[in-house]
Amino acid sequence: MTITTSIASLEVLPQHCKLCGTEYPAEANAICGECLGPLEPTYPKDRVLPDREDIARRAPNLWRYREWLPFIGEPVYSKETGFTPLIEAPRLAAHLGVARLWVKNDAVAQPSLSFKDRVVTTAINAAHALGLSVIGCASTGNLANAVAAHAARAGLPAWIFIPEDLEPAKVINTAVFGANLVRVRGHYDDVNRLCAQLADRFGWGIVNVNLRGYYGEGSKTMAFEIAEQLGWRLPTAVVAPMAGGSLLTKLGKGFGEFQAAGLVSGPSPRLYGAQASGCAPIVRLVESGGVRLVPEIPNTIARSIAIGNPADGPFAARAMVESGGWGAHVSDEEIVSAIRLLAETTGVFTETAGGATLGAALKLAKQGRLTADDEVVICITGNGLKTTDVVRDVLPQAPIVDAKVREVAALVASRS
Ligand SMILES: *Cc1c(COP(=O)(O)O)cnc(C)c1O
Ligand SMILES: [Zn+2]
Repeated sequence: MTITTSIASLEVLPQHCKLCGTEYPAEANAICGECLGPLEPTYPKDRVLPDREDIARRAPNLWRYREWLPFIGEPVYSKETGFTPLIEAPRLAAHLGVARLWVKNDAVAQPSLSFKDRVVTTAINAAHALGLSVIGCASTGNLANAVAAHAARAGLPAWIFIPEDLEPAKVINTAVFGANLVRVRGHYDDVNRLCAQLADRFGWGIVNVNLRGYYGEGSKTMAFEIAEQLGWRLPTAVVAPMAGGSLLTKLGKGFGEFQAAGLVSGPSPRLYGAQASGCAPIVRLVESGGVRLVPEIPNTIARSIAIGNPADGPFAARAMVESGGWGAHVSDEEIVSAIRLLAETTGVFTETAGGATLGAALKLAKQGRLTADDEVVICITGNGLKTTDVVRDVLPQAPIVDAKVREVAALVASRS
């Protein structure tokens, strides 16, 4: 292996195929040449792991779990991401009829207000370690925001590809960072296919394409934070949204790694995946008990999770079933009412993916899959300010009054 002087002391780990085990060097490649399976990082067996006290002493960002991230050496970029709040929500717990409930609030993730800040943090450092000086992504919105923001902070050029009809706020929240933003005619799956070709053609680090093995590991940090913030224990159930199915899969991996390290004990949480009814290929795979995922053409307001042919769909389905969990999909109407319920009971304003997540939790509780004994964490992965259009027309109009006490008094009387 040749090491050029431009590469700092950060190294990224080699990879292996998740299906057939074939080993690969550290490089910008996410697919096994033997069986087309996905690659994931290979951690040294003798890696020295920290204990609870060691971790607790470290700065409040996702690098406090660095031994479970695919690097050797110091991170170079995005050193502040992670350690978002875990908020207990007793009123929402009562609503669902579960013992306790917490909101893992990645709606305030830094710097771009979604959980995609986690995966871009690991991917951009992998790009650096591999000597790639241009990063990019195929995105349903939040990933575009995150890649643009992290690249701006790092001073790297970025090429970002989105479906042409994305929500205006997601487009603005990308363009403002000065990235090369390109709208592609077609659905996300068309954009993704294009990006796979572009990665080869230009030698770019496309975070969710040729850097996907390194990208995905960032998601595990949400599981680590949940365990630590609960006081080094596990919830009984976790509900998370699914797009490509990576987050759900990696939550399972993360909880498992903390159990293996002896940092937490007791049973693994049951994992429940949420999708919108207008794009629910992973949930339908679970419900049918099948083995082959049937791709769908998305048609839902939950744009950020509308991936019709999810790369990690079968892995997510298996993670749900093997943990004793399940999946649920909800209508666009249920998504909107869950956004309002979350806001009104917890003070957290989520985008549509969070509406799907809480909507799914409500459905699972009604089905008796979440019970009065459960301690539940719902993963709220994106900020409501990015999708205000979906609630604008259902919220009550604010009355307009003259600046007179008499007029407000009449209003108060009419509402009491
Ligand atoms: C991307 C995304 C997800 C899920 O991503 P996966 O592809 O399943 O890892 C969930 N919520 C939001 C808001 C997202 O942007
Ligand atoms: Zn393979």
